[in-house]
Amino acid sequence: MPRIRSELVDEAAARAIVTAGRRLGARGLVAAAEGNLSVRLDHDRLLVSPTGRRKDELDADDLVVVELATGRTVGTGRPSSDIAIHSAVYLARPDVRAIAHAHVPAALALTLAGEAPDPQVLPETALLLPRVPLVPFGTMGSEELAARIAGALAQDAGDGPPRAAILERHGAIAVGSTLVEAVDALELVDLLCRVWRDARLLAPTRRFGPPFPPPGSDRTSA
Ligand SMILES: [Zn+2]
Repeated sequence: MPRIRSELVDEAAARAIVTAGRRLGARGLVAAAEGNLSVRLDHDRLLVSPTGRRKDELDADDLVVVELATGRTVGTGRPSSDIAIHSAVYLARPDVRAIAHAHVPAALALTLAGEAPDPQVLPETALLLPRVPLVPFGTMGSEELAARIAGALAQDAGDGPPRAAILERHGAIAVGSTLVEAVDALELVDLLCRVWRDARLLAPTRRFGPPFPPPGSDRTSA
């Protein structure tokens, strides 16, 4: 692990972002400089991936510290152009400690085709991502889009707020108490979208009953 540029930067948080970037790259979820990652350092500050850089080639020195309330950079570097989304989600979800966003190709394809996959069709996503809202397209980098994404991720329908959302023509975003959790959720969204796309190519998607017994009866786990 390279030297950390600033004493402001938490080494574990930096390592988490560098590792997550390589994971996203290895799975083909980020092309060129797409995608962004962040970790909540404390009540007031985030550690964020930089703009204009490959996310699978980051070093700890490349990461940027940003004030949550103001969006101002602390020290050097330019944060992701999607920083408004990250800030809005952290402000709306105090439980969230990390965020992963990528222009997940299968999610892009589905939303271009007007499709929204139902996570209830697969046992793994029904259990771990029971609700994946679809957020309509908004101008990239706008406060309005950031507010809509944060609103979708803060909506609790009685089963807890969602861990991920699909963004129309913009991929997907996932949250967690760690960056590993957030990237896991993003990978599951990718899996769901790829399976949904492949099933739609084969035949119209059939409707199924829920994969698990209702709450209160014996519940199996995946
Ligand atoms: Zn983006």
